[in-house]
Amino acid sequence: MPFYEYECDACHATMTLEQSIANHKAPEVCPKCGTKGTVRRVFTAAAVEFKGSGWYCTDHHSPSGNVATGKKGK
Ligand SMILES: [Zn+2]
Repeated sequence: MPFYEYECDACHATMTLEQSIANHKAPEVCPKCGTKGTVRRVFTAAAVEFKGSGWYCTDHHSPSGNVATGKKGK
């Protein structure tokens, strides 16, 4: 499974979570400061290192979910 990097806007803590491509999302509550709704996805070189055959360009338009929509045809 790929790793996703998240950062808290409140305390700027960063966290890397191993989540599935189909079901990844930011934690609702920051595990460090406990603030709700401040954790957002960030993109790092490490987080996209696993990029393979053609999904990588589809994720820019959808912050959450909907990653697999890039495949067309057949
Ligand atoms: Zn925080």
